[in-house]
Amino acid sequence: MYPSSFEYHAPTDVQEAVDLLVEHGDRDVELIAGGHSLLPTMKSGLSKPEVVVDIADIDQLHGVDHGEESSRVGAMTTYATVAADETLARSTVISEAAAEIGDVQVRNVGTVGGNVAHADPAADLPAAVLVSDATVRLQGPSGDRSVPAAEFFQAMFTTDIREDELLTGIDLSHLGENDAGAYVKKPSPSSGYALVGVAVVLETDGETIMDARIGANGAFDHAMRLKPVEETLTGEALDGGIAHRAAGHATDDVEPYLLMEDDTASSDFRAHLLEVYTERAIDTAIERVGSMTDTEAD
Ligand SMILES: Cc1cc2nc3c(=O)[nH]c(=O)nc-3n(C[C@H](O)[C@H](O)[C@H](O)COP(=O)(O)OP(=O)(O)OC[C@H]3O[C@@H](n4cnc5c(N)ncnc54)[C@H](O)[C@@H]3O)c2cc1C
Repeated sequence: MYPSSFEYHAPTDVQEAVDLLVEHGDRDVELIAGGHSLLPTMKSGLSKPEVVVDIADIDQLHGVDHGEESSRVGAMTTYATVAADETLARSTVISEAAAEIGDVQVRNVGTVGGNVAHADPAADLPAAVLVSDATVRLQGPSGDRSVPAAEFFQAMFTTDIREDELLTGIDLSHLGENDAGAYVKKPSPSSGYALVGVAVVLETDGETIMDARIGANGAFDHAMRLKPVEETLTGEALDGGIAHRAAGHATDDVEPYLLMEDDTASSDFRAHLLEVYTERAIDTAIERVGSMTDTEAD
């Protein structure tokens, strides 16, 4: 199907994009980034924006800047760029999650900002963002604001972004010397999206887990931290079957209605997958302790 007609704008800086959102605030406006989620909904008639603001030509939104303790990933940065970035790969779990998305065509066009702003429950990046102690950066008519990832994802396809704001980038904390992380995923056999995806960051002193952050997507109506699993891991030694014991708490705090249920997997099966993939992700991170952040010295 053809999309319904719309007015098209292609700003070249962030302020111009914000001005367009404000100017057309009384109309149905959509930003377009990679277009991989928006265009199918426009073609099927589910979305009929009157105004489309294309942010692809805004140079400020492209690329990754590395600092000492964190990296800033611009909203228009593609998954392929993130997956290939060596600093991100050894200091965060977002590269591993980006490498799991779709196929090479999707990874060359889909953007970090689009993935996170769209907040599809089955998208891969939200869990990785949640465990990276990340801050989502938004710009609107009153300027910049930063939202902790834990407050950003609110419900299915729902985030803290206001109608007159765009997501400009994400700041991701780097892993420390003895820390490690992992992202593992059970892809849907039909779409490749995450039936369940689990991201893990373990902060350790080399022997004991000092702090743990576990995030899941696919299982629930939006990406969430698994607090009971994190609490079980904290203070435990890096051996002795702790992954299995902790993963058993994956759904402890979750209201049953939040578990996804559809043609590809029942909520019971997803709960089972969540435990299995949580255990795998923790085990993978434990195996990597001491080997992730020293790659630069090799
Ligand atoms: C065949 C196929 C397979 C896929 N497989 C996977 C998969 O395995 N895992 C996965 O995670 N995803 C998958 N996707 C989804 C893909 O990653 C999408 O590209 C992504 O969800 C949205 O990113 P986008 O850049 O295409 O955003 P768009 O489609 O351009 O935009 C999506 C929504 O986000 C809004 N938006 C975009 N950028 C911003 C911004 N900077 N600020 C505020 N709002 C913004 C838009 O207005 C729109 O409402 C797949 C897609 C396809 C077509």
